[in-house]
Amino acid sequence: MKRALITSCTSLLLLALVACGNNAAPDNTASQAPATQMTPEPSQTILPSASSSASPEANEPSSTPDAVKVEKTYRMNKNYFIVPIDKEKTENKVVLLTFDDGPKAPETLDPLLDILDKHNARAIFFVNGYRVKANPELLKVIDDRKQIIGNHSWDHIELKKEKEPKIKEQIENVQAIVKEITGKTPVFFRPPFGSSNDAVRQISKDNGLLFMTWSNGSLDWNMAKTPEAKRPQAVIDNVLEQLHPGSNILMHELPWTAKALDSLLTQLEQKGYSFVDPDAIDTEL
Ligand SMILES: [Zn+2]
Repeated sequence: MKRALITSCTSLLLLALVACGNNAAPDNTASQAPATQMTPEPSQTILPSASSSASPEANEPSSTPDAVKVEKTYRMNKNYFIVPIDKEKTENKVVLLTFDDGPKAPETLDPLLDILDKHNARAIFFVNGYRVKANPELLKVIDDRKQIIGNHSWDHIELKKEKEPKIKEQIENVQAIVKEITGKTPVFFRPPFGSSNDAVRQISKDNGLLFMTWSNGSLDWNMAKTPEAKRPQAVIDNVLEQLHPGSNILMHELPWTAKALDSLLTQLEQKGYSFVDPDAIDTEL
């Protein structure tokens, strides 16, 4: 098992017995490029759902080290899959969990955080600057709960249609506001709608960001024609249909995704997958 997971498992020992104990032998099936996804255009609708507990870190001493140094055991390939750097030593049957377009509201964010904790999983939350500005306390919560914050541009616009100074502003202002609130500068970037060009990639690189779109689209942003009660199952079905070792799973901070997540993560675990720690991805490879 990877050191990263072993380390993080210690914090939730009971759950870890379940979450970390079911890694099957590596699956050598070659990763296939995913089917073309529709452009993500998430719904802006926010529906109330059960909110839950505050940060479990609240009562910890302030001297607790901010971050455990995680060994870089994975890299991203050109199709945005997460693969082991050393195939002999490192499990390839992992998925990367990502949630875009927040932070929106406690009603949608808290359940995601609680379920990630329950499964001892860390994810990347790709945030938009205008939402961070509106909800700085929610960005802080994501960081306090040891999840990873990624850059998803300030305004959620199609960057390939913009001129360089505007692209720079869209990316760099998010770097700045996240640093200001959390003290950390993002190292992951995902352009809205997967829309990019050479300038977007170069500016991302110049800011020390690993550029990624995704390899497994949950289609949770495209549920307008799906009755609300059926949306959580649709999210699960969409992810499982495209599942491969190293899947980079695109989800959003949406109520039906929050409702789907516990069952989805359980089913992934039952299939022998574990959740790659974003800190274990070498962003310089
Ligand atoms: Zn987005």
